[in-house]
Amino acid sequence: MTTTTRPLLRIPYTTPLPPGRPIPSTASTLPGAITALAEFLSASWPSSPNYTPFSPLLPSQSTLPQSLLARKQRTLILSGAGLSVASGLPDYRGPRGTYTLNQNYRPIYYHEFCSNHEARKRYWARSFLGWPVVQRARGNRGHVAVEALAGMGVVGGVVTQNVDALHTTPSSPLPIPIINLHGTLTTLTCLTCRTPHPRTHFQTTLSTLNPTFSALLSTLLESNALSTSDPTEKQRRAGRAGLETNPDGDISLPGLNLKYTHFRYPACPTCLTNPDVETHVDSAGALLPTSPAGILKPNVTMFGESLCPETKRAAERAVDEAARLLVVGSSLATYSAFRLVKRAREQGMRVGVVSVGGVRGEGEIFFGGGGGALGGGDGDGGGDGAGARGRRGEKGNQRVIQEVLEMGAGREGVRINLEAEDVLSGVVEVLGGGKVEMEMEMERGAEYGVG
Ligand SMILES: [Zn+2]
Repeated sequence: MTTTTRPLLRIPYTTPLPPGRPIPSTASTLPGAITALAEFLSASWPSSPNYTPFSPLLPSQSTLPQSLLARKQRTLILSGAGLSVASGLPDYRGPRGTYTLNQNYRPIYYHEFCSNHEARKRYWARSFLGWPVVQRARGNRGHVAVEALAGMGVVGGVVTQNVDALHTTPSSPLPIPIINLHGTLTTLTCLTCRTPHPRTHFQTTLSTLNPTFSALLSTLLESNALSTSDPTEKQRRAGRAGLETNPDGDISLPGLNLKYTHFRYPACPTCLTNPDVETHVDSAGALLPTSPAGILKPNVTMFGESLCPETKRAAERAVDEAARLLVVGSSLATYSAFRLVKRAREQGMRVGVVSVGGVRGEGEIFFGGGGGALGGGDGDGGGDGAGARGRRGEKGNQRVIQEVLEMGAGREGVRINLEAEDVLSGVVEVLGGGKVEMEMEMERGAEYGVG
C-alpha cells in the first residue's frame, strides 16, 4: 500500500441506484437467468467464423496474437460483497442500493488511521469484536460454484473487492489467479517497517491487552450470535446483544457503555526488537500515542487510500486477458472496481452483471454510453448487427441495442437481479454436462488448425 495525493477508493454512493432491468427479459426468473448466464459464459469468442465484434474498438481477429487469443477464451469474475452475504458477512447495501443495514455506519479513512491514535483505538476495538465473524465465515454455494466454473475452464480468474479471502477457502485453492483488489483482513502490515503479521496472533494480543472487551466477546460468542450462517438470524442475535456487524469485520456498539478510548493495541513486534527504530509502548506492550513508529495496519485498502500499484496492474492484466467480464454481487460503487468494467467495455468485451439492486453506470455498461454499444451485433444472433452498428449514436440507440441484446438471449450481455449463489449454482449444473468443455475444445481445435 502506498499513499498518493489522489485517492481512488471513496465512500460508496449513499443514494439509491436505479434497479437493474433484466437482460434478456427472460432473465427475470431463476430458470431464465440460469439459461441466459450459461449462454453468456459459453458463447464462442472470437475464434468462431461467425463472430462479429460488437465494438469498433475491438481489434479484428487477425491482428490479435495467438498467445493472447488462446488466453482470451475464459471469463473473468469481478466479485463484491453481495457474494459473501450468504456466508454471514453483511453487504454494505440493502436491496435498493442504500445503507439499509446500518444507517450510522461510516468506515474509517486511511488518513485518520495513520494519523490519529484515538481513531485507531476505535477501529481496533470494533475490529476485535467483529473478527470472529470474518474468521469463521466460510465460502457459500456461490464461491463453490465459482470454483467449479474455474475447474471446468469457464472462469479463468477472479478479481474480488472482498477482503474476507473466501475465494480461497471452500475446499482447496482455486486453480486460477485470485486478485484481492482491496487486500485481505488475514494479515497486517507495519506502516514503519512493512513487515506482514498474521491477524490471528494479533487478535490474541488484543485479547490480552483488553480483558473487559475480551469478556464481552466471550459473552457474545456464548450467545451464539456468531455461530449461525443465516445472515438474518445472525443479525437478529447480534442485534439482541446490541451489536451490528459490517462487511469489513468492523462492529458497532450502540447501547453498550464500553469506551473505545480504553482500548489498547500492540506495537509492531519487529519494530520493537529493532534498536534503530523508536517505538513507544507501555509496560504491557500497548502502543503509546507518542510513538513515532510501529503502527500496524490491516492489509486492506481503506477509504481515501490508493490501491496497491502491483495489485492494480494485475487486475488490469486480468481484464485484458479475459474474453468477457462477469460482475457478481457488486454495485460497482467503488471506482477501483468500476474502472475495470470500463476498461473491459473499452476493449469491446461482453459484460454481465449478477447482482441484487442497482449497479453504478448501468446504462453505460449495457446501453453503450461509453466505448461503443454493447450489442453491436452477433453473427449467431441473426445478422442485424451491421444495421445496429450503423444506427449507433442516434437517438433511440438504446432501444435498438436492447433489441439486439434480446436476440442474443444472453450471449451478448446479461443483467440478472437475483441472488448470485442461486444463479451460479444453477449454471454449474447446466454447464456440468460437458457442453462448455466440448465447445472450448472445438474452439481450441479451430485455433490451432486441427478442428
Ligand atoms: Zn514494524
